[in-house]
Amino acid sequence: MSASHGITRDPEPTTAPLLGEVADGVFAYIQPDGTWWINNAGFLVGGGGVVAVDTCATERRTRAYADTIARVSGGAPVRTLVNTHHHGDHTHGNYLFPVATIVGHEETRAEILRQGLRDYDAVWPGVAWGDLRVAPPFLTFRDEVTVYAGDTRAEVRHFGVPAHTTNDSVVWLPDQGVVFTGDLVFNGGTPFLLMGSPTGCLHALERLRALGAHTLVPGHGPVCGPEQIDVTAGYVRFVIETAAAGRAAGLSPLDTARETDLGEHAALSDPERLVGNLHRAYAELDGRDVDIEAALLDMVVFNGGRPLSCHA
Ligand SMILES: [Zn+2]
Repeated sequence: MSASHGITRDPEPTTAPLLGEVADGVFAYIQPDGTWWINNAGFLVGGGGVVAVDTCATERRTRAYADTIARVSGGAPVRTLVNTHHHGDHTHGNYLFPVATIVGHEETRAEILRQGLRDYDAVWPGVAWGDLRVAPPFLTFRDEVTVYAGDTRAEVRHFGVPAHTTNDSVVWLPDQGVVFTGDLVFNGGTPFLLMGSPTGCLHALERLRALGAHTLVPGHGPVCGPEQIDVTAGYVRFVIETAAAGRAAGLSPLDTARETDLGEHAALSDPERLVGNLHRAYAELDGRDVDIEAALLDMVVFNGGRPLSCHA
């Protein structure tokens, strides 16, 4: 990230963030268009304080998010900040909530500390990240922890398997029937499994479905209903089947992706994620780990050698 300092380009968001009150005092902060690094967040207002769910990729976006929280809550303090997983689009802005207790899975903390602030310019060049600082969760859990905003109960749950990452956690509001899914669910974008597991993701999606939520705030894209769990699972099964066929034919993940007809998934944004997803699916079949950097660069190759678009 430090290599990005000094870049003055600071594009306005393609569309302004959208705020939706999905239940009494429960807000979804939706950032269109939900593509690379443009995530959703949210917050619960109650009891004179705020529980925030995730932050944003850049300093500018997180400051806009914090301003929205302050306006809606009448300036109530963000006392608790929950991270759904370690990815920078959801956690880079943690440091801008200095009085919040930052809550996350213990692997969320470990991954943030392991990775620090990385230089993503080879894949997503020219992003105005701002003056980011590392601020990992410092109240961690392994399975679940419950937090409250006034009387609003929010159960933060890890499903025990790698899925989108090793440390995906959902924020489940049983009394409201609302769940913040983190990146277990993308709505309109291609699911991304490179840092997680396709087979684990199917298991996690079953656990998510069993919650019985009627309203989902996905990690990216518009608020949706539980039918989006099925859409996501359909794509994940497609990745698993495509990987098995490509590997059996002796093709690399990149070549398999090039020969694959996306079919019903062709309308999803960021289709190059298929390459990263196949890298992970192959590795799972082989029983080995993935070279993440190589897989990301393969996505650039798949994209015609052009870096991936990022409007963050
Ligand atoms: Zn993510």
